[in-house]
Amino acid sequence: MTKPTPAKVSMEKIVSLCRRRGFIFPSSEIYGGLSSCWDYGPLGVELKRNIKQAWWQAVVQGRDDIVGLDSSILMHPQVWEASGHLEGFADPLAECKSCHQRWRTDELEGDSCPACGGELTEPRMFNLMFKTFMGPIEDEASVVYLRPETAQGIFVNFSNVLDTTRKKLPIGIAQIGKSFRNEITTGNFIFRSREFEQMELEFFVKPGTDEDWFNYWLEERRNWYIKLGIKKENLRLRQHMKHELAHYALDCYDIEYQFPMGWAELEGIANRADFDLSQQAKYSGKSLAYYDEDTKEQIVPYVIEPSAGIDRTFLALLCDAYDEELDKDEIRMLLHLHPKLAPIKIAILPLSRRENLAQAARELYADLRQCWAVSYDDAQSIGRRYRRQDEIGTPFCVTVDFESLEDKQVTIRERDTMNQIRVPIKELKTTLAAKLSGEDLFVLPPGGKIWKVERE
Ligand code: ATP
Repeated sequence: MTKPTPAKVSMEKIVSLCRRRGFIFPSSEIYGGLSSCWDYGPLGVELKRNIKQAWWQAVVQGRDDIVGLDSSILMHPQVWEASGHLEGFADPLAECKSCHQRWRTDELEGDSCPACGGELTEPRMFNLMFKTFMGPIEDEASVVYLRPETAQGIFVNFSNVLDTTRKKLPIGIAQIGKSFRNEITTGNFIFRSREFEQMELEFFVKPGTDEDWFNYWLEERRNWYIKLGIKKENLRLRQHMKHELAHYALDCYDIEYQFPMGWAELEGIANRADFDLSQQAKYSGKSLAYYDEDTKEQIVPYVIEPSAGIDRTFLALLCDAYDEELDKDEIRMLLHLHPKLAPIKIAILPLSRRENLAQAARELYADLRQCWAVSYDDAQSIGRRYRRQDEIGTPFCVTVDFESLEDKQVTIRERDTMNQIRVPIKELKTTLAAKLSGEDLFVLPPGGKIWKVERE
């Protein structure tokens, strides 16, 4: 019998893993799905929460110069006039005269329809904002938009935040939330959808210090992905060419990831000068200036904006963590997710369903659940159960066997190496806490011993 060969990551493999294990489902699937909208299942929601928590920790909680905000999705329509979205947030769209599919002409390689080769109509500009009506009357006066970015909620609250926190420049305001864009062409799974989540930071600085802060944030943000385990060689910074820059932007880089379909944007980092605050001040008639106590002058701060997408980070993390390896005669599929991100941190696996063993395992399960996302699995062979946990990236499995009832010890098995140690139950919590924070498996607690070394 020929041995199977491990394969490289592909989008099909990620989509299938996500569906099979409950990371992501098509939205409204029982009705045939809704194009480019996705539902995050039990494991997906955990991973997503962990990504947001890691960002919040790095950008807000761990710093004293940034505060958080959660502004509403529906905003005064003038916000979008001031920001330029009503007029400028549009892509050129052309329709095929034969098959009637619509295309973004700035992404087309030739001038005929990529699907059927038919002739295309002249491009017209198509605004990407979703429109709806506020209140019972559907007329022009009640039109509101679903926000296409979270950033404007930050700009219009600039003075509120400054007045209530009494912070001085430089000061950042960070926000995580849903955004909506009526994209012409969607696809590549969750990479481009019409409803997605953003993690945006607006970092306000004194004009003249903006270039230094811009470079600082480029470095910080790139390192954030690396610290979460994304391989350096799969990340790159791409500076925008002059023609790609918005007229007010002084500079902009994309952090790109090498997805299975090629290099594509994960996050944009822009030096937006004083454009947003000035525009919102002009349209609202309210000052959004800052009183500089050093120079005794009113200034309009410049803003550096690192703007990241949660769904794209999610996809990049899964692609980067995905691995297949030959284990004996089988393919072992695993996700090398950073323990901080893994949806489930620990799985409790009793070796048998026998009453006394199950009771001991359930007690451990109840205890550990107070600290971490833990799962309990007693179905099928222990080998199968290890595989199921490897596939979803669970860093540690705790096996309870018959000896555990006698010696009050359990086995901890590490996902990546499959090595095992045996530790006293009373040391289990502190040992797991240390291992989850990166301690080597073979650093043993009192009474612990090396149990099994997979590959010597
Ligand atoms: P693209 O060029 O890919 O359309 P963009 O430059 O318009 O992206 P930004 O406006 O800079 O994107 O938005 C910031 C971040 O929000 C992006 O880097 C991306 O991670 C995320 N994002 C934007 N649009 C979408 C979308 N349709 N689906 C999922 N994430 C998105």
